[in-house]
Amino acid sequence: MAEAKEEAKEPEGPIPCSPCRGSGKLNSNSGGEPHQVDCPWCEGSGVLIEEHDAQAAQRPEGEAVDDKPQPAVD
Ligand SMILES: [Zn+2]
Repeated sequence: MAEAKEEAKEPEGPIPCSPCRGSGKLNSNSGGEPHQVDCPWCEGSGVLIEEHDAQAAQRPEGEAVDDKPQPAVD
C-alpha cells in the first residue's frame, strides 16, 4: 500500500474488487495444490464489475437460470 493520501471519494469511481482485494487474482486449491487464478468477479482486472455474476462462469452452459423465486413444491 503506497497511497500517501486519499483523493476525494467519488461515489461512482472504480471499486476495488473485494474477493481478490484488487489484485485480480485469487488463490485456488482446486487440482490439489494452491495456485492463482483470474478472479471471476473482476475477470482479473482487480476492479469490481457491477452486476457481474461471477457464478455464471461456473454454471454449465445452457442451463437456464431464473431469478424468480421458485414456488414451493412438495
Ligand atoms: Zn477480483
